[in-house]
This record gives sequence, C-alpha cells and structure tokens, in this order.
Amino acid sequence: MRDPGGGVFIFGHEITIAVEFVFWVYDSYILGNFELNRPAQSEMYLRALRTLPGGTDSNFRAWGEDTVYIDRGRGSHIWDLDGNEYIDLRMGYGPVILGHADDRVDDYVGERMRRGVSFSLTSEDEVLAMELLCELNGWPKKARMTVSGTEATMHAMRVARAVTGRTKIVKFEGQYHGVHDYALVSVTPNPNQMAGLGPAENPVALAWGRGIPEAVTRTMIPARYNALDVLRRIFEREGNDIAAIIIEPVLGNAQGIMPQPGFHETIRALTREFGALLIFDEVKTGFRFGRGGAAEYFGITPDLATYAKAMGNGYPAAAFAGTEEAMSVLPDNVSHGGTYAGNRVAAAATVKTLSILRDTDALEVIRKTGEQIQAGLSEVIGRRGLPHVFTGHPSMFGIIFAEKAPTEYRQWADTDHELYDAVAVGMRDRGAMPEPDSREPWFVCEAHAKGNDVDQIVTIFAESLDAALENRVHNGIKI
Ligand code: PMP
Repeated sequence: MRDPGGGVFIFGHEITIAVEFVFWVYDSYILGNFELNRPAQSEMYLRALRTLPGGTDSNFRAWGEDTVYIDRGRGSHIWDLDGNEYIDLRMGYGPVILGHADDRVDDYVGERMRRGVSFSLTSEDEVLAMELLCELNGWPKKARMTVSGTEATMHAMRVARAVTGRTKIVKFEGQYHGVHDYALVSVTPNPNQMAGLGPAENPVALAWGRGIPEAVTRTMIPARYNALDVLRRIFEREGNDIAAIIIEPVLGNAQGIMPQPGFHETIRALTREFGALLIFDEVKTGFRFGRGGAAEYFGITPDLATYAKAMGNGYPAAAFAGTEEAMSVLPDNVSHGGTYAGNRVAAAATVKTLSILRDTDALEVIRKTGEQIQAGLSEVIGRRGLPHVFTGHPSMFGIIFAEKAPTEYRQWADTDHELYDAVAVGMRDRGAMPEPDSREPWFVCEAHAKGNDVDQIVTIFAESLDAALENRVHNGIKI
C-alpha cells in the first residue's frame, strides 16, 4: 500500500520492522546474542585507551571493546558504569571472600586508617594481622606482610634460595605465581603456544612474554602437575641444585584441577629426600579451602607459604610465612622490605577479615553455597544430557563439559572450552559475571548465600547454556 502523503510503502516499512523484530528475538532469546547496553563504558574505553595500555591496569582485564568499567559493588552484586547489574562470580579473582563493601571490614579499616596509613614504622595492626595468619593456618611460626601476591612469591623463593644455598626452583606448567620474572615461566596461557613447553617427558622453561632474561628462566625448572615420574626425574637429574618446589596446591589457573591421591604427599617426601623446601602458593586457596587453606585441606605441612587475596577481603594485603627454621634467614641474611609492607589499610583489613573467618561460620556458609550452586548446575546440565565435572573446591570451582577432569595443564589446554566460554559470556549478558576465560574458576563469597542468588545463578546459567547449545546447532557445531 502506498502512503498517500509521501509515497512511502507503509506496509513494507511495517513488514521490515516486524521482520527485524523477529530476527532480534531469535538472535537475542534463541541464539542468546543480545548485547548489553554499554554506551558509558564504550566511551570510557576510548578515553582510557589514550592513557592506559589496553584501557586498563592489568593485561588480564583488557577485554578489548568488552572491557568492563565498574561503578560499585555491594555484597555479591556489582554494577558497571552503565548501571548494568550482575551477580559477581569473579570476586576480583578471588579476594572478596565476604562480599563487596562489607561494612564489618570497611568500618574497621576506616576507623584504623584515620590514625594514619604509612609510617614505615610498625603498628599493632601488623603484629595482630600476622599473629592471626599464623593462628588460622596452624603450622607457620613467622610471617611478614607484602602488598601483593607477586611480592609474596618472589620473597618466598628468595628465602628458599637463601636457606638452601641453591639456585633452582621447580614450578608446574600452567601455574600462576604473579608477574615477577621468576614466576612468569611456563605459565603459557595460549593453547597455540603449547609447543613451546617442550616434550612432555622433559618440559622446557618458556618465558611468558618478552623482557624476561634468559638467565632467569634458566633458574626455573618446569614440571607437570600430577606427573610424578617427570618430577622424580628432575630431582634425580638436578636435585643438588634445587632450592624449592613452588606449587599452587590446585591448578588455580586451569579451573582448579585437583591433585591426584598421593601427589602432595610424594612431593613433600621428595623435597625432604633432596633437601629442598616446599612452598605452597596459597594466594588463591588460603583462607578459602578452609581456615588453614589448602595445607589444612590436603593435610600437608610446607616449609613456606604465600597468602594474599582472601586474607584482606579485597584490600591489597599479602604475606609470606614459614616455619621457624625457614624464616630464620630474616632479617639478617635476606633482603625484604617495602614502603607499603604492613601499611595500616592492609593490616587492618587482614585483622578484621581473618577475625571474621576465625570467629564465624563464613567459610562453611561459602562451601555450602558453592555446593548448592553446583547441585543446581548439575541438574541443568544433566537434563540436557551433557557430561560434566566440577574441579576445585565448592568455594572456587571450575565446570568442565567432559566425562573426566584433565589432570594437568597440557591436557586441560587440549579440551574443548568453547562451550563453556560461550556460556560464560552469555551469563554476563543475562546478569551474572563469571570470568569469560575458562581458566579462572567461579569464586563464591559469603554474600552469595543471601537473597536468591543461588537460584538466579542457576537460572541464568540454564538460559545461557540453552542459547550456547542452540548456537552450536545453528552453526553446525557438534555438541
Ligand atoms: N599466586 C597465585 C596462585 C595467584 O592466583 C596470584 C594472582 N592471581 C598470584 C600469585 C599473584 O598475586 P597478585 O595478583 O596479588 O600479585
């Protein structure tokens, strides 16, 4: 029909709009391709790009056009600059164990920081913080604060080298210990760089990114998680030069892959046999797997350990700790310091957070909430006839669409993460935010137990899974 006024096909116009609407509904609700409204963030991205490389302060947050700019958080919910609300499942990569903007911690920190923040002198808050850290973990006798997990692992490695008078340190492929040079060996995030890891039986040290001196990488020996034969060969070959094994008790950087029975016990025995120290990097697992972290959970006593994340509920608190003997090289024989080490904000946050974890049932609540989420997800996935396994601990877990979990990084890199990645991205668009990269586990905090978070997470997951599966069918990809 002609528009009597302007000669436009009104009918045609309406049909076009109707067709577009149908496509939009199909694309959005069936294929799950609807996009969030994010004009403020797009603008901020362009602005930030002019000053911050990648538009952020960390490579891990540089998600291109999807880079998230945050406004605020409260409990388990966060709001971006455009006002989109999400249930947070990243929790800042793990530190926010109680919930965002927790009044108990913030009020205490606020009160203490008004007495001054940085003196480069020692406050009671620091002493109390490290007393609590030793008390909750049980085994360490001495501890010192640092500002980041990176610093903590750097100092723990130096202490181990000083104690033993040896240079080399064994680390496991795929494990992340921060961004200092020694830590950035054989982390290898990209599946297309797998060849650089060397033969499975004899892995080679591969620096992650440029700028790491080769002399540094040569002091690191990569091993494979859960591959005890490789580890023993390394010790038989170079045992006299090995100062320590540093290990994240679970493969936190690959969905929290768990140790096989006997793995940690054998490592403990092997280090003792060859006079090397055992460093547990508990930056992710500490005060999360239990009050005594992974050491308590697995029943292993290391010589040194590093902590950060959950100890300060998101404030920049970190520490390294150890047995009396291992830490005896401080203060006289090993350099450690830092203008901000033990600063009031971090120390007060640690005191309050660790007191809450010690005196309340927060960790039990978190574990139970994680189990409830897992039960809901299992039902959803099971109903769709897909295989799945959870890795890690209910407070920090990965979801793998397979019959069996991989046992180490190389195997993990070979598995199909595309379905998971699509689900994670779809969840963000629907109001829950797990990390879009399947390496990172989901993190549960105490506040997730409140309201109807669990049900909402499961519903959002189900919708997103359906959309991802539909997309696969649509694109002819095998499920
Ligand atoms: N070790 C482990 C196990 C970690 O997960 C991380 C951070 N993701 C670090 C060390 C480094 O901590 P930070 O980011 O505070 O430097």
